[in-house]
Amino acid sequence: MATIVIDAGHGGYDAGAVNGTRLEKNDNLRLAKAVGQRLQRCGVNVVYTRTTDEFIPLLERSRISNNRNTDLFVAFHRNSATNNTANGVETLIYTNASNKSLQAAEALQQALVNVGVQSNRGVKRANLSVLRETRAPALLLELGFINNAQDNELFDQKFDQYADAIARSLAQSVGVTCNPSGSTDNGNTPPDNNTPPTPPTTGNSTIRSIQNTLNARYGAGLKVDGIWGPQSQRALTRALQTELNLTYGAGLTIDGIFGPKTKSAIRNIAQGSRGNLVWILQSALYVKGFPTTIDSVFGPNTANQVRAFQAANNLTADGIAGPNTFAALFN
Ligand SMILES: [Zn+2]
Repeated sequence: MATIVIDAGHGGYDAGAVNGTRLEKNDNLRLAKAVGQRLQRCGVNVVYTRTTDEFIPLLERSRISNNRNTDLFVAFHRNSATNNTANGVETLIYTNASNKSLQAAEALQQALVNVGVQSNRGVKRANLSVLRETRAPALLLELGFINNAQDNELFDQKFDQYADAIARSLAQSVGVTCNPSGSTDNGNTPPDNNTPPTPPTTGNSTIRSIQNTLNARYGAGLKVDGIWGPQSQRALTRALQTELNLTYGAGLTIDGIFGPKTKSAIRNIAQGSRGNLVWILQSALYVKGFPTTIDSVFGPNTANQVRAFQAANNLTADGIAGPNTFAALFN
């Protein structure tokens, strides 16, 4: 099955470009999800770098793609300029991008021009981290300028048509014929079996967010119900093992069981650390009743909660999360 990684640019404290109350991160996520749902309907395996409003470091976005057999990586962005007359749509590829990237970019750009854009800015090459560090063919779409009124109008009015055209073009670039129906449902569309049901607004919203991230980042396949049970705990342990392998080459079996090997692969993480291991630590603290903002940044509040958890578990309360602290969190 063809795999496409869908990357909604920015997120969390990184709003991207801003025009009044309109934030690029929100436009990006909305479009990314619309395209992803259409691709799933066409039988494409879709992996999102984010499905919620959260900050994901650039290297992490590439790593999500490099971690699997990705056929195509597509980042969604809105453009911005210091003047509000700049307008139009462009697709970026890496400076030394392969022909495959170029062809996919040209097809995508043409598909959007066919729907209608204010101006066709074409395919451009750029030395951007997310394009450079991603091994699969990688595109970055700038769907109009967020500080240009007419581009925003086009983005809103033609949203479904754009999403259809993008999905069709991306699918074709990975050898899948896709005719997404978008919102113009004629009643003949088969039921959408590949898209997970809309998350219910039950349970705990932070746990829903953790479950969403485990699904998006690690393919956990959890039901997003906001309830922390054994499956979620195992998924979090698998995420930990995945990160220990990626970060330290630990060579662990990703079995979701926190055993002696996993414990001995843990290195200390302390205030000043950031990244996915911190995210996992914060999530584990949260579900044990030691809540801190789950932002992948180990700040003073996380250190306080680590100390509180350690004290409650008869561990040295030094605020440094090492093998014993992780073992207590994961057992
Ligand atoms: Zn952007």
